[in-house]
Amino acid sequence: MTDFGELAGELETLKAQGLYRFCRRVEETRGGRIRLEGRWHVHLASNNYLGLSVHPRVVAAANEATERFGTGAGSARLIGGTLSLHEALEEELAAFKQAEACLVFPTGYMANLGTVTALVGPGDLVIGDELNHASLVDACRLSRAIFRIFPHRDLQRLSEALEKRGSRYRRALIVTEGLFSMDGDQSPLAEMAQIARRFEAWLLVDDAHGTGVLGEGGRGSLAQSGVSPEGILQMGTLSKALGSLGGFLAGPREVIEILRNRARSFIYTTALPASCVAAAREALRVLQEEPVWRERLWENIRFWTEGLRRLGVRVLSQGSPIVPVWVGSNEGAMAAAQALLEAGVFAPGIRPPTVPTGSARVRTSVTAMHSREDLELALAAFEHLFQRGKALVG
Ligand SMILES: *Cc1c(COP(=O)(O)O)cnc(C)c1O
Repeated sequence: MTDFGELAGELETLKAQGLYRFCRRVEETRGGRIRLEGRWHVHLASNNYLGLSVHPRVVAAANEATERFGTGAGSARLIGGTLSLHEALEEELAAFKQAEACLVFPTGYMANLGTVTALVGPGDLVIGDELNHASLVDACRLSRAIFRIFPHRDLQRLSEALEKRGSRYRRALIVTEGLFSMDGDQSPLAEMAQIARRFEAWLLVDDAHGTGVLGEGGRGSLAQSGVSPEGILQMGTLSKALGSLGGFLAGPREVIEILRNRARSFIYTTALPASCVAAAREALRVLQEEPVWRERLWENIRFWTEGLRRLGVRVLSQGSPIVPVWVGSNEGAMAAAQALLEAGVFAPGIRPPTVPTGSARVRTSVTAMHSREDLELALAAFEHLFQRGKALVG
């Protein structure tokens, strides 16, 4: 049983299906550009929406924290890994999300995993949007609750599933994304919150992409939808617009205490290093004190989305920094991404299982760091590709 030859066969199958994955080596990034294989490209693949990971104040805060506390936290949060920095960040995130309390995890993935598995289990129902992020899907499966899926943004089907539940289940938890990571569209949160109340279900909103971007002050999807956060479980990540690393859950105090006691991805792992915590805290401050980054982001979102539309390509979203361009086939998406790369634009092809079969796409994302020139260059590359192959016709 020491022969791994059959894995070589599996790898061949992945290649034949256009599903083989590899990590592209990034040599350097600067502003809205990225250097790959010795060549600078317009960088349309970053979730660092506001450029805060390179903001001088954020970098300085991380450096100072490293000088003071060292590079690693040294133990788990419940043992000796909790600094006053962690607690301060949790209070600030709770205030930012207008929640009672908050718990920080080492990543967003772990926040979702720990939250869902701590709150529901056998005898409970968890129901999720079909396009939910893999971390939510994994969390729902791992929870061992009955796991149901409703069609994307389909409130009718969500209600029906909850109605049928009757008294068969102890608890029901609805899980969804605020701003969907691969489609750039949003959940109808006002209606979902109503449905949750009507059927006495809990609602978990993964706002990895909305945090720092949407709503007044960048508070996220709930703020943008005008939904009171009271009683809603708000997950977010420190790793996207906040430019650091880490995830969090903000919500009612009892929920946070249960997570601290039961969420295995919080308990059995080392605390976030001080540098990440300090960077995220400073990013929150910059977000509030320097609205210019959000203004630039939104100007770029408008310019980019309208520019693509004018070319006639099929853009799947609006009003979002995530701007996917429909292709359909896996090969088509990868070929389009390759052609863009050759034209000096880095935007990944996205294939199953990240997105449903037959809906492969080129995912572009804009940030506050893009100059007008960056985006014009990228538009020219899309125009060229579009004219050449008509590959992106809607
Ligand atoms: C990125 C992402 C996560 C995971 O966050 P990390 O901090 O990168 O682990 C979770 N959910 C969604 C929707 C995401 O896009």
